[in-house]
Amino acid sequence: MPDSSNRHTTSSQLNLTERDKKVIWHPYTQMKNALPHIPIVRGEGVYVFDENGKRYIDAVSSWWVNIHGHSHPYIAQKVAEQLNVLEHVIFAGFTHEPAVLLAERLLPILPGKQDKVFYTDNGSTAVEVALKMCLQYWDNRGTAKTKILAFKNAYHGDTFGAMSVSGRSIFTDAFNSLLFDVEFIDLPDEGNISNLTAHILNLKDTACFIFEPLILGSGGMLMYEAKYLDQLLSACKEAEILIIADEVMTGFGRTGTYFACEKLTNKPDIICLSKGLTGGTMPLGVTTCTNEIFEAFLSDNKLKTLYHGHSFTANPIACVASLASLDILLKSETLQNIKRIEAKHAVFLEEIKTHPKVKAIRQTGTIIAVEWETGNETSYLSNLRNSLYAYFLEKGIILRPLGNIIYILPPYIISNEDLDYIYAAIKTALEEV
Ligand SMILES: *Cc1c(COP(=O)(O)O)cnc(C)c1O
Repeated sequence: MPDSSNRHTTSSQLNLTERDKKVIWHPYTQMKNALPHIPIVRGEGVYVFDENGKRYIDAVSSWWVNIHGHSHPYIAQKVAEQLNVLEHVIFAGFTHEPAVLLAERLLPILPGKQDKVFYTDNGSTAVEVALKMCLQYWDNRGTAKTKILAFKNAYHGDTFGAMSVSGRSIFTDAFNSLLFDVEFIDLPDEGNISNLTAHILNLKDTACFIFEPLILGSGGMLMYEAKYLDQLLSACKEAEILIIADEVMTGFGRTGTYFACEKLTNKPDIICLSKGLTGGTMPLGVTTCTNEIFEAFLSDNKLKTLYHGHSFTANPIACVASLASLDILLKSETLQNIKRIEAKHAVFLEEIKTHPKVKAIRQTGTIIAVEWETGNETSYLSNLRNSLYAYFLEKGIILRPLGNIIYILPPYIISNEDLDYIYAAIKTALEEV
């Protein structure tokens, strides 16, 4: 057919960005006026390289997943070995070593006592499973608890259940009328903590409380203190509200400890993990729970089964990538790197906190967020966001602002020199953008 062969010749003459534009719809992107998508051909350590050889520091760990740097040789080797042994197998009725081993290694290092692992394939589905576990837990026990408690400005993912428990925002606007009802509370602080705990103690039919511990990521890197969260959790325990810690972003060292909930006295009933799990190599999600939750599903009545599963549940390649990533995470040098980044961020924070363009600056572990002073124009859609994004890209740094908030969330192997380069770029941006 002359038509299609003609089209083929044309595509092969286009560069990757132009070919992309013809066939791809990108996430979180208004495609009408999107900037050309940068064609990345290679990753190494903290860097990715485009078609023309330009180098970028991946200062946001590629949407928070890449904790050990790109194309890590150790993870690559383990994945390659597994590819030749078993790439995938159905996970209902069958099991495999990487899935069992990962659960055996993960459960003991999680905060509190977590007993069972349920696998999915991303953060949103890990959250969906957590919500279903809680709602069905009460249903299986014959107690009608169907309400859910969450934070305003929370972000738990983009599927419908995960969107429902996320703060209403421009991301959810087109779907708000279809999202189920959730009770949203303010982040706790000294001023409101006693009202919040009193309120929780009065709740009767609330099934669970889902939260991002210590830091609300997509909501703008909003940080709050562990001691107030702990007080909320005490109230939840007393009111028999199940506790879901969404550690999808905070897990695996991000907040300075392996898991953010380590900083709490009260431990969660359920934990969601995904982003850093495979070291950013493969998609994988995990929802863990206590035996108490698990046992509420054990029954001769088939209706008490957790009917949930994804085609790629516990994919062996992803499990092996996670095992390799854990090996690296648990090395003392990784913890030293996390502490090093934490200390450097703290110095930078002191350096710029009084700058007139800095409306706010905050840090938790390896994450530092700088909020730009904008007068009134603070929305995600503002031009400032696009100017900042372009400014750093031009300097070879991938920083993806959330509205007027710039944050650094780097792979733990980032060097002091690269951190200093990013800090310097933020300082000049404060003068120039
Ligand atoms: C990113 C994120 C999710 C969703 O994970 P996806 O893999 O993008 O679906 C859920 N919860 C938190 C806290 C997140 O940061």
